Amino acid sequence: MEKRKFPASQAEALRQKVTYYFTGKPCKRGHVCERFACSRTCKECAYERNRERTKYDYWIDYGDEAYKKKKRQNASKYYHTRAHKRAIKLRRHFERKSRVATPQGVKEIKRMYLEAQLLTIDSNVKYEVDHIIPLIHTQVCGLSVPLNMQLLTKAQNRRKASRFNQDEQSKIQMQLIKKPPKKGATR
Ligand SMILES: [Zn+2]
Repeated sequence: MEKRKFPASQAEALRQKVTYYFTGKPCKRGHVCERFACSRTCKECAYERNRERTKYDYWIDYGDEAYKKKKRQNASKYYHTRAHKRAIKLRRHFERKSRVATPQGVKEIKRMYLEAQLLTIDSNVKYEVDHIIPLIHTQVCGLSVPLNMQLLTKAQNRRKASRFNQDEQSKIQMQLIKKPPKKGATR
């Protein structure tokens, strides 16, 4: 297996600000693999450990008696300060605050989903409702409102995925500014 070029020492990797370094020596479990510059952990070992920890029931019996006692104490402390109730309340509060669609908007969105279903039945091509500005993106955050939604076929939607084209979007916005939408248009 060919290794990518990594710095030969940890110090060198830290200087170059690279995540890994590779010495060519095996780790104590015998992996000849690159290591993390921050911790000197073998990448293969870290991978195995993480796989182990994602197993169901792994954390239930984790640690010795002292650890378990501490864990139990912390849990009961958390419970008695009602922190869990506060957390739920706070989450509900933010959920309510972050709801942006108006009742008409919700109705419109439902209509769009139904329209997509009807189109699918009529044309035998799967139609989906797409968010024009993606909801999850590194640069932008779209909203779940009818103005941000369009009907696309499944193939088109997969091709678009959560891509976002700044220039294209700016062009569309400029046109919208020039031609304001008709009055009484549903939002
Ligand atoms: Zn290893």
